[in-house]
Parts: sequence; structure tokens; C-alpha cells
Amino acid sequence: AAKRAGRNGYAVFDPTMTMSVLEEAQLRIDLEQALEREEFAVLYQPVVDMQTQSVTSVEALVRWNHPRDGLLGPYHFIAAAEANGLIVPLGRWVLREACAQLARWRAESPAAATLKINVNLSARQFQYAGLVDDVAGALHDAGLDAAALTLEITESMLMEDIETAKRTLHALRGLGVRLAIDDFGTGYSSLSYLKQLPVDVIKIDKTFVDDVDTDADDVALVDAVAGLGQALKMQTVAEGIETDAQWATLRRLGIDHGQGYLFGRPADPEQIRALLNGVSTISA
Ligand code: C2E
Ligand code: MG
Ligand code: MG
Ligand code: MG
Repeated sequence: AAKRAGRNGYAVFDPTMTMSVLEEAQLRIDLEQALEREEFAVLYQPVVDMQTQSVTSVEALVRWNHPRDGLLGPYHFIAAAEANGLIVPLGRWVLREACAQLARWRAESPAAATLKINVNLSARQFQYAGLVDDVAGALHDAGLDAAALTLEITESMLMEDIETAKRTLHALRGLGVRLAIDDFGTGYSSLSYLKQLPVDVIKIDKTFVDDVDTDADDVALVDAVAGLGQALKMQTVAEGIETDAQWATLRRLGIDHGQGYLFGRPADPEQIRALLNGVSTISA
């Protein structure tokens, strides 16, 4: 079976299994309908200053509000949407929604005046010829300055076709948006290419954070990435921080920003508004 039974017996995509042609076709129809019916939602996870814990940006993380299976995370549908190409319109929707939401927070609250937004790009979106126009359009329609937006890409997306990737990065940079390398350390980026790319932020993958408070090897690796960030004038963000001990170690190593359940889980726009206004925190 290529699908597993969902909570209510409805089959949902399981990325660990291969799907039949029919199942793939059905999922494509489901995803198309979901886009039309606006069943997708965006949650936002705070990224904080490591020293002050103040929220500097939020990362947009897509969810599928499935009519029968409830709220589904990206692992249930991003790979399939990537395979069938629907990631391009879905990604465009996330980008536009995230920009519009940042503009709403900024309009509502002085506490959001300098808040920024991070949006993930998929490989197919990154290769799509209309990407730069989509990004410019989303910023323009939301009335946002380009510096408010950071686009997250992975090492494998950059290394696949370096010359094309470089052109795309420079075109995006030309708009004024910031660029981040997501899941850093899990791919194969070469230092010589990294040096040539207009990247502003390195996001250190959670796998290096998990044991950083106890494992000397992880300390050495994170320390090396912190040094790399300094040498290349790129900011560093540690992903997946869950404990005070991890936070303390990463802070000592000079990591600039942090993200993780310790500071806040992905949350809806109202929860983020409350967090910004100091009314409540998003508990882990
Ligand atoms: P990512 O971009 O590396 O996002 C971070 C993921 O780690 C998120 O999972 C987040 O909820 C999770 N996370 C953050 N802090 C912690 C923590 O302290 N502990 C643990 N256990 N997890 C933590 P999520 O939302 O399930 O997203 C998974 C991946 O799906 C993302 O990884 C990203 O690669 C992809 N994704 C999410 N939204 C989009 C999107 O709109 N477009 C594309 N192309 N990909 C997306
Ligand atoms: Mg990300
Ligand atoms: Mg990541
Ligand atoms: Mg990721």
C-alpha cells in the first residue's frame, strides 16, 4: 500500500512509501482542490535574538487543514507537491499569505514594526522561471520592503546547478530580499561556492543542536559554523532548540539567533500577535 489510513480512515500521503500511478493522480486532484478551497494554512514560528530572546522574525510553515484528517504537516504533502509541480502555485500562495500577514501585524502593532518573515522555497520553485516576479509581486501587493523577507533554500538546491542558482540568488538579492541556507550541515555545500554566493544567513540544522550541550563533537562543529559565519559575514541561526542547556551552549558559541520549541512552537497569527505584545508566550 502506498498510503496509510488517516485518523478517520481516509488515506493520506506517506512520504516513506511509494505511490501507485492512481494514488499519485488522486493526491494531485486532492491538492489542487485543497488550493482552490483554501484548505492550506500558514503557521509562524518565532526566531529570537540569542542574547535578548526578543522575536526578530517568524518562519512561515505550511499546514493542510484536511477536511477529514485534520491538520497535516508538510511531510504529508510537500514531497508529493514537489513531484507533481503543484508546489509552484502552493509555494506562491504561502509566500503571498506570509507577506500579507506580516503587513497586517505591522499595521496592527508597533511591536511588529521591525519584525521580518522567513519563507521556505522548494527545489522546483527555485528553478521556476517566474520566481523573481512572484517574489516581487508578493512584496509589492503586501506593501512590504524587500528587506522584510528572507527566503530559505537548502544546500542541495544550490549545488545542483551552481551557475543557475547563482543567477537566481543574485536576481533575488537584486530585489533586496535576504537569503538563508536552511538545514545547514546536512547537505554538501563546498566552502568555495558558499563564499561566492550572496547568502545572508546560515541556519544550523537541528541534528547539530540536539546534543550540543553534552557532545564535544557537536560543540566543535557548531563552533566551526559560527566561525564560518563570522568569516563570510553571514548571520547564524540555530534550529530546533528545546532546552535551556542547548540555548546556553549555543549562546556561548556566539550563534546570533535561535529557533525552537524553547522559544515557541509554530503558532497562528493571533498567538504571534499576543507574543509580540507581550500578552502571552507560546508554551512548549
Ligand atoms: P524547516 O524549514 O527546517 O523548518 C523547521 C521545522 O522544524 C518545522 O517543521 C518546525 O516546526 C520544526 N521545529 C522547529 N523547532 C523545533 C524544535 O524545537 N523541535 C522539533 N522537534 N522540531 C522543531 P515543520 O513545520 O513540520 O516543517 C518541516 C519542513 O517542511 C520545513 O523544515 C521545510 O523544509 C518544509 N516546509 C514547511 N513549510 C514549507 C513551505 O511553505 N514551503 C516549502 N517548500 N517547504 C516547507
Ligand atoms: Mg526553513
Ligand atoms: Mg531547517
Ligand atoms: Mg527543512
